[in-house]
Amino acid sequence: MIRVTGDWHTHTTHSHGKGSMEDNVRAALLKGLASVAISDHGFSHLFYNIRDVDRYLLEISALKKQYAGRIEVFSCVELNLLSMDGDLDIPPGYEGAFDLTMFGYHKMAGFADAKSAWRFLLPKSRGKKAVEKNTAAYVAAVGKNKVDMISHPGYGLPIDKVVLAEACALRGTALEINAKHPEFTVEELMACAKTGVKFVIGSDAHSPERVGDFAAALARVYEAGLSAAQIVNAKEA
Ligand SMILES: [Zn+2]
Ligand SMILES: [Zn+2]
Repeated sequence: MIRVTGDWHTHTTHSHGKGSMEDNVRAALLKGLASVAISDHGFSHLFYNIRDVDRYLLEISALKKQYAGRIEVFSCVELNLLSMDGDLDIPPGYEGAFDLTMFGYHKMAGFADAKSAWRFLLPKSRGKKAVEKNTAAYVAAVGKNKVDMISHPGYGLPIDKVVLAEACALRGTALEINAKHPEFTVEELMACAKTGVKFVIGSDAHSPERVGDFAAALARVYEAGLSAAQIVNAKEA
């Protein structure tokens, strides 16, 4: 049996989640988790971005103190992939300000340049030939930025997950097995595991009720025969 010890992918009203940060912390505590991360959408998302990063970090640090000894609260942000060159939307001066960082592709991000927007948004980018270029953008992002996790790989943009896993294994970046998005298949998990990459399981909860809901991700983990040692936020139970 595998037990997920922390939910590091949860959204709040700071982006488009339904609950407050404290609602998510309480929900995680009730589920018996040892840690929870607040990981709202990054700064270039056109609709659901963290508007006031200082307030965001301050609120998390207050919760860390309030819940110390009961549950560990991490500050995190779900950054956006902005360009074919692997640019992300961490604001200057905030590198290293978060306990954890992750990035993913979101089609409603303000892309860095017209060429990237064109590539990312047009149906052409969904074709087989585009997979190589899409993957290169992810790999470049992993190389250029210090990121702990990649959220929902394959969601919204087809990529070669094994090629990405090889790059992530070298950089120590974990690939998320997301309970909300099923794009990371059992076959792909098995192939990626061979690269030595680490995985992270996330609920991607947008409401406090879904915090700690890992069922759909765990089903794929078991089917792929992964062990807790391959998952950064899990242990054998
Ligand atoms: Zn996302
Ligand atoms: Zn998310």
